[in-house]
Amino acid sequence: MTRANTPNLENYWMPFTANRQFKARPRLLAAAEGVFYRDVDGNRILDGTSGLWCVNAGHGRREISRAVEQQLNTLDFAPSFQMGHPVAFEFAEKLAEIAPGEGDSKLKHVFYTGSGSESVDTALKIAIAYQRAIGQGTRTRVIGRERGYHGVGFGGISVGGLVNNRRVFPQIPSDHLRHTHNLARNAFTKGGLPEHGAELADDLERLVGLHGAETIAAVIVEPVAGSTGVLLPPEGYLERLKTIAEKHGILVVFDEVISGFGRLGAPFAADYFGVTPDMITTAKGLTNGVVPMGAVFTNSRIHDALMQGPEDQIELFHGYTYSGHPVACAAGLATLSIYLKEGLLTRAAELASHWETAVHSLKDRTNVIDIRTIGLVAGIELGSRGSAVGARAYDVFVDCFKRGLLIRVTGEIIALSPPLTIEKGQIDDLILILADALDRVD
Ligand code: PMP
Repeated sequence: MTRANTPNLENYWMPFTANRQFKARPRLLAAAEGVFYRDVDGNRILDGTSGLWCVNAGHGRREISRAVEQQLNTLDFAPSFQMGHPVAFEFAEKLAEIAPGEGDSKLKHVFYTGSGSESVDTALKIAIAYQRAIGQGTRTRVIGRERGYHGVGFGGISVGGLVNNRRVFPQIPSDHLRHTHNLARNAFTKGGLPEHGAELADDLERLVGLHGAETIAAVIVEPVAGSTGVLLPPEGYLERLKTIAEKHGILVVFDEVISGFGRLGAPFAADYFGVTPDMITTAKGLTNGVVPMGAVFTNSRIHDALMQGPEDQIELFHGYTYSGHPVACAAGLATLSIYLKEGLLTRAAELASHWETAVHSLKDRTNVIDIRTIGLVAGIELGSRGSAVGARAYDVFVDCFKRGLLIRVTGEIIALSPPLTIEKGQIDDLILILADALDRVD
């Protein structure tokens, strides 16, 4: 039986969703404005997750919809191979201006993709192609991290450390660093990065010893792991990883699909941590999530090495029909202009202390075993109810939604990442609803 306002749910096979459970009790969003959604029954829901870490400038931004409409009416599509259009070049130039790095290390070359997963696969291919171009063709292995999430392409699942993503599918040669997460020693860290665990960067030395540096093209990490539960890098970890990688000729890729575009209080996590990798992967906040798009940023060393061949030959045999889509580029340009005009790339830094205090006020609620915050991100970890890992956090998620708050849960961890436009009062409202939900769930 269908309820009023509920469409026929049979045919859409939903991604990353327990379809049968969802369809028995669907949650359907119908509209969005500012930091709020509305569901199909007209209830207002505070967006505690920027959609999926996407809508950094808030929902319903008319500057973006106008730019998209104008672009659709001017040049709706252009072939991405052997043809160009001005908007793609203009957007890349603007992105290069805010890209991390100085001088030779500046990540000023932009390769467009259609999503975060495509950005990751693209970066891994660029890494392997670069190594080959400089005479290091045996470097084909890539190193990720336990509990890393890098999307769902074959490249991404190969370096990803989410077991469920890997179990069923074959992978390219890869290996994994041990994760730095050390709950017992770093629990409830406030006022900075976790103190313990920087030495885990030395795990890269172990993998070099095991496989040989001459087989390793790149190492990829999320500076802050998001999808696997908001895991912060211990103080000094990223610097140490970069030093070891450099010593062995291994490229460093930061997956900034969620940490890019102001989430931590700086344009990119690379800026926030003061560590410049060789490449960064982005998506989501690149267009405020409103048109699917991703991008890989590289430094000139990589870019120029791949430009060395004969002039009439394709330098990187790779690309997507939707690379540099005109409508996505127009959305991206309008988004970037909002970020810059409203100071959103650094606003999380202004809110961080209010945010940290508000989220840490949940410390003594039942079942909370850790709280991690950085910029405008939080991870609240709950103890599991027996062996049913994730059941408790899921109940909190369902209860929050009923009472007008969208959170995200992954395993037993609640992840929060509201739009960067959120006001302090709205942060307090968010925490009140969440506190109530935590109290209700046994
Ligand atoms: N990398 C990271 C760090 C991500 O968080 C995600 C998505 N949450 C991806 C890659 C994949 O992005 P997409 O879902 O757009 O393919």
